[in-house]
Amino acid sequence: MKTIYLDNAATTRVLQTAADAMLEYAREKYYNPSAGYRAALEVRHDMADAAGVIASVIGADPHEIVFTSCATESNNHVFSCGVKNKKGNVVISAVEHASVYESAMRLKSKGADVRIVDPDPNGRVTAEKIAAAVDENTAFVSVIHCSNETGVINDIAAISSAVKAIAPKAVIHSDGVQAFCKIPVNVKALGVDLYSMSAHKVGGMKGTGALYIRNGFNMQPFIAGGGQQDGRRSGTENVCGIMSFAAAAAAYRNAARSFDANALRNIFVERFGSGELSRINGGSPNSGYIVSISFRGLKGEIIAHEMDDRGIMIGLGSACSTHIRSNRVLGSMGVPKEFAEGSVRISFSPRTTEDDARTAADALDEITKDLRQRTGR
Ligand code: PLP
Repeated sequence: MKTIYLDNAATTRVLQTAADAMLEYAREKYYNPSAGYRAALEVRHDMADAAGVIASVIGADPHEIVFTSCATESNNHVFSCGVKNKKGNVVISAVEHASVYESAMRLKSKGADVRIVDPDPNGRVTAEKIAAAVDENTAFVSVIHCSNETGVINDIAAISSAVKAIAPKAVIHSDGVQAFCKIPVNVKALGVDLYSMSAHKVGGMKGTGALYIRNGFNMQPFIAGGGQQDGRRSGTENVCGIMSFAAAAAAYRNAARSFDANALRNIFVERFGSGELSRINGGSPNSGYIVSISFRGLKGEIIAHEMDDRGIMIGLGSACSTHIRSNRVLGSMGVPKEFAEGSVRISFSPRTTEDDARTAADALDEITKDLRQRTGR
């Protein structure tokens, strides 16, 4: 059976160039980058070049990139070390990824004043709403750049300038995992101090992430030890992961330039966006890489399962963490419960064809109609 993979927001197929880089640094250039001989020094230089590639995608300096084990680590790092010693309240949005949301909840359980801002009904976190939650005692603000549920892009530049007007010293973080390589990003223009990224969402390997730390921003290391990465994140570097991350990012960014994700998204918007039985969650501006669709009275797990039976892999399985995630995010946007439970997430990569999208949309249409007939809903 031919399969169609439409869960690229969860992870992507490793690009050939990234797999080649991984193998090269596993088999040929396997030296510990901290060693003293020439071959090791070369690896160190190659890693600096890799940081340069990641930095160039987001308009940063290579030195501002710290490699981590994943974006979950990057986000935890931010909350453990970027906020910990700062007095004052913390503001996040209700549509953050669990790695931000749960980190904030941990601070809250330790007594911190954590304020959670709902998005508008289109899934957008607005500068006005964030500004309303901020005061002169705000120490830290974290707002996701592109939603992993809906693809909605938040105006981080407007948010950071609104925050700085009220709390000039507040630290601004954005989770850029679903924006990185997909939409233009310039961290200087966004006005952020910290920005999180992950390799496996853009054709790199699982187990490598990065954190942009603005030059001059003083942050305690998350992992102490041998002082690698200028003491900012100890532990022998995951050279294979880092080199394949850079190779993937360069290739993915190039492919993304000629990929019209919104054209694919619109296939689903046109098909399921109007009417009483289904709705599209989240509006514009949108990266186009993600589409969240809810079917009234149906169960997302059952729809996804039936799609899987036809060889089409889409988001929202039966894992209960998936449930919790969707209910929180969609609930905060005001999606009624009878719709929220029938939600699926479809996500593209530059490899996705129009044919794939149309086949999936047809299947979704047939499956949901059939389910309604069988269940009388
Ligand atoms: N942030 C967002 C927006 C994500 O979509 C994800 C992954 O789903 C993460 C963070 C976590 O990334 P990682 O799998 O690298 O820990």
